[in-house]
Amino acid sequence: MPERRRFSHGLRFTLTAVYTVVFTILLIGVSLLFRQTLAASLDRQAHEDLNQNWAILKAMLRIDLDNGQPDLNWYYDRNDAEENSAGARVRSVLEIANQNGDTHGLETSPEYQALGVDPPQEIRAELNSPQPVWRTKHDPKGVPYLIRSSYVYDERGTEKYYVAIGLSLAESQKLLNLFTWMTIGLTPLVIIIGGLTGWFVTGRALTPVLEIASTAERIGGSNLSLRIPLRGTNDELDYLTETFNQMIERLEVTFNQIRQFSTDVSHELRTPITVVRGQLEVALFTAQTAEQYRDAIVNSLADIERLSQIVRALLLLSQSESGQVVLQKQRLDLVQVAREITEQFEIPAEGAGVRLTFHSSVAHCEGDFDRVQIDRMLSNLLSNAIKFTPEGGEVSVTVARAGASSGEEGEAEIRVSDTGHGIPPEHLPHIFDRFYRVRGKDEQASPEKGLGLGLSFVAWIVRAHGGSVDVESTPGKGTTFRVRLPLSSLAPEPPPAEAAGTEVMKAV
Ligand code: ADP
Repeated sequence: MPERRRFSHGLRFTLTAVYTVVFTILLIGVSLLFRQTLAASLDRQAHEDLNQNWAILKAMLRIDLDNGQPDLNWYYDRNDAEENSAGARVRSVLEIANQNGDTHGLETSPEYQALGVDPPQEIRAELNSPQPVWRTKHDPKGVPYLIRSSYVYDERGTEKYYVAIGLSLAESQKLLNLFTWMTIGLTPLVIIIGGLTGWFVTGRALTPVLEIASTAERIGGSNLSLRIPLRGTNDELDYLTETFNQMIERLEVTFNQIRQFSTDVSHELRTPITVVRGQLEVALFTAQTAEQYRDAIVNSLADIERLSQIVRALLLLSQSESGQVVLQKQRLDLVQVAREITEQFEIPAEGAGVRLTFHSSVAHCEGDFDRVQIDRMLSNLLSNAIKFTPEGGEVSVTVARAGASSGEEGEAEIRVSDTGHGIPPEHLPHIFDRFYRVRGKDEQASPEKGLGLGLSFVAWIVRAHGGSVDVESTPGKGTTFRVRLPLSSLAPEPPPAEAAGTEVMKAV
């Protein structure tokens, strides 16, 4: 339990932390960009304002010469509020000097004086510049001013005069500072709100995962039927839930098979053990002669032989199905193999009064097969056919080739048909199951009737060769098992042992 909680919170914490860090970086980035844009826009505005002031100054200022001395004249109506304020604005930060940088007899506003009049060498240099010169100066309190300097000619157009005008950037500075402090103050708050939102949202998103985990915790061998309800949101978590449910379903099927198998095995082993035990007990208490003891031992040995048979068959079947038995493939002619096995069953068939025939529509049918397993498969099918066909009946084995086209080798088809009593349709789906035997109304499963493992072997062998087997049966008329085996040496790999669908049953 604590393990689970630690895991879920770990993921939630990581997601929230990553989200918060990314969010913080983005927030800081956007704020810096915004501040930069604001500063650039304020700067552009200041330049525009000064250019405008310069145009006003040029319209208002005239420098005449009075006895060789410059005489500054401002032409604007002091009674016109608008003109007066424009004139005052232009002259508030102003320095006018001659070509030697001398301001004497010209005009320098007190605000400009506070900034410090421009040194003569700077003035001389700037007078030679065809473009206006821009720079920033600070007053003693540290307030920045944007300065635009250029020149004007006197009335006669002979002498150049240096003119610098300026604009206080205090307001812009204040606005930028306000923005900076607001950003610094609000950022932690926004990060905290963002982080909490992230924590809440990831918590909600992870809730179904916790539900899945808690259901998984409750699932055990005894309640594999539990399923996690789908939320119907069609998202990744629904997909996870569905996949998880499908996995539990597969586990349930496998568990049930294992459970059924252990029940079957214990049931199958119990009968002969009980019989042996009974025989030995009876012999112990009632037998008097050596002959009677001998009989009891012989009978017990027969039952023990059956027990070993079951154990051997089970071991082999489980090894086969778990992939431990590797097919020893070799080039085989199925026509020849089927003919040989059929011949081996002639004597038992004769003994049972059954007519056994073999027929092949092709002379040869070659492919890569495991000889031992193919023999085992045919023997199982033939012994069943003879066993379940009454006297006077008929069993036939036919080999044919199917699905061959140019370039393709196609499949071999082997049919084992009998005119026996058939298999009732309700039993058909189970006859390939382990230990499954069809019992008549008054019939008990007796040792002579077989172990019920033969067809399980047939199914495995066919599957291991990449083929398929199906059965058609009409009660009272007979049964036909049809096996199809691919002849190509590049036959598809057999499906895993638990994959169903290789066996097809058809009641006719
Ligand atoms: P068994 O060892 O009992 O023959 P199998 O797995 O080979 O076990 O067969 C399972 C059951 O299928 C048999 O008990 C029998 O009832 C039925 N069966 C198999 N082959 C035939 C057949 N040719 N005709 C009628 N019933 C058959």
